[in-house]
Amino acid sequence: MENNTKLLYNGKIYLEKGRYAQALLVRDGVIAAVGQNDEVLPLAAGAAQIDLGGKTVIPGLIDSHMHLYNVGKTLLAIQLYGSTSMQEVIDRSRAFIETHQPAPGSIVVGRGWNHDYFTDEKRMPNRFDLDKVSTDHAIIITRTCGHMLSCNTKALELAGITAATPQIEGGEYELGPDGQPNGIFKEHAMDMIQKLVLAPDFQQSREILKAAMAHASSHGITSVQTNDMYESNYQLVWNAYQSLVDDGTATVRSYQQVGFSTVEGYEKFMADGYHTGFGSAMNKIGPLKLLSDGSLGARTALMRADYADEAGTKGIMCVTPDQLDAFMAASKKNGMQVAIHAIGDRAIEMVLDAYEKSMEHDGNPLRHAIVHCQITDMPLLQRFADNQVAGLVQPIFLHYDMHIVEDRVGKELASTSYAFGTMDKLGIHNSYGTDAPVEDLKTMENLYCAVTRKDLSGFPAEGWLPGEAVDVETAIDHYTIDGAWNSFEEDRKGRLLPGYYADLAVLSDDIFTICPEQIKNVKVELTMMDGKIVYKA
Ligand SMILES: [Zn+2]
Repeated sequence: MENNTKLLYNGKIYLEKGRYAQALLVRDGVIAAVGQNDEVLPLAAGAAQIDLGGKTVIPGLIDSHMHLYNVGKTLLAIQLYGSTSMQEVIDRSRAFIETHQPAPGSIVVGRGWNHDYFTDEKRMPNRFDLDKVSTDHAIIITRTCGHMLSCNTKALELAGITAATPQIEGGEYELGPDGQPNGIFKEHAMDMIQKLVLAPDFQQSREILKAAMAHASSHGITSVQTNDMYESNYQLVWNAYQSLVDDGTATVRSYQQVGFSTVEGYEKFMADGYHTGFGSAMNKIGPLKLLSDGSLGARTALMRADYADEAGTKGIMCVTPDQLDAFMAASKKNGMQVAIHAIGDRAIEMVLDAYEKSMEHDGNPLRHAIVHCQITDMPLLQRFADNQVAGLVQPIFLHYDMHIVEDRVGKELASTSYAFGTMDKLGIHNSYGTDAPVEDLKTMENLYCAVTRKDLSGFPAEGWLPGEAVDVETAIDHYTIDGAWNSFEEDRKGRLLPGYYADLAVLSDDIFTICPEQIKNVKVELTMMDGKIVYKA
């Protein structure tokens, strides 16, 4: 049994901008005292002692939008992140099959390729590329954005997809020059292939979540606002999370963003007794989560004007304004919070329209939010502020998107997009996440991008739209206390003050004084959640 009273001393403990303490006393998972060593030491009789050796401590990080369950699945699949060529995608996939020896005829999944990084051929993998990996196994690999996938011929066969298969609404599968499906599927059409992948059962779900939680803890994350529960699986996923809480193995607190494709399914969920805030401090139901458009990389984000680099294309609308209104009406009736994925300016406008209609100018007591908020102009940002709509943003997206956004939307609209600094100036509630596994959940890289506005190679030297950069304290606040606000827990979470949960991370370097370029190299040395040490380097 771990001692339930702990003293951390000799540290640089971040309280709020410009204020630090040296020592912190934890009792029963809650912070009992903070202050200078000589103030806290006399209160700590019998406590287990941790000498911080001058190290910096920050509140445990809160990822405000990610998919923890998929992070776990990704950890257990072919890792294609960072592949710089088609050949590397093929090689890594072959190596995975050699190492894991899946049974012939089985489904092998991979995640994380991005053809914009390929140096040999800048195109998406098709079935002919993946037939080089295997013709015995069904190979299904999803792009880093999660909005397209590629599969081999075996997978097409197993799914029964031929040139005669009808296209489905809200998505597309491609035909090659030979008139046959070429193995590339976008948006809703991905379901045609993904249905082959058997959903993990309860026991497998527990293992997946445990792997993902360990990964999150190693990056200083103590809370996730995670979108894993859907119409088709919500009971299973909820039960898997809850069982980890009940047996004491959960190392991360979760706030569930729950996705639905039909209003009927959503109403049934609420009739089952689920609602925002249901659960405990370890595992809680959060908002309804909807998708209104796709991604910028895939040109499926919904824009008001044509893409600058593809005339005639405005992206994909994943939910209609009428459907949005119906979801909002059901939410209002049941007091459910709502968070909607919107990347393109038209999608953001559409969601703001729906929120404004639903809120009828009585402010935003349910703290509805827009996830991503990428392509914006000043009038749209002003509407966020006027309606107190929160932004759940991902600074790490800058690493890739700064290289494509001007091509996609033109210089003028790009100059007011990813406007995280402007959001602060307008007083918009703004919290940070990674959308992992879209990007890895590396917290220090996320902070680095927010503070430097550079990609991970340090480009451009002066930062991209450097006026939108924030200082490191602000970035950490967005990653802690502002995330806590999303889940109505800003009085218990996100600060290292008496009465708050003992959720914290000890860092290898003083993130407040090092050169900003070095932030991405900072390591988490120890993570504490609920007063328990859940990670130690
Ligand atoms: Zn997401």
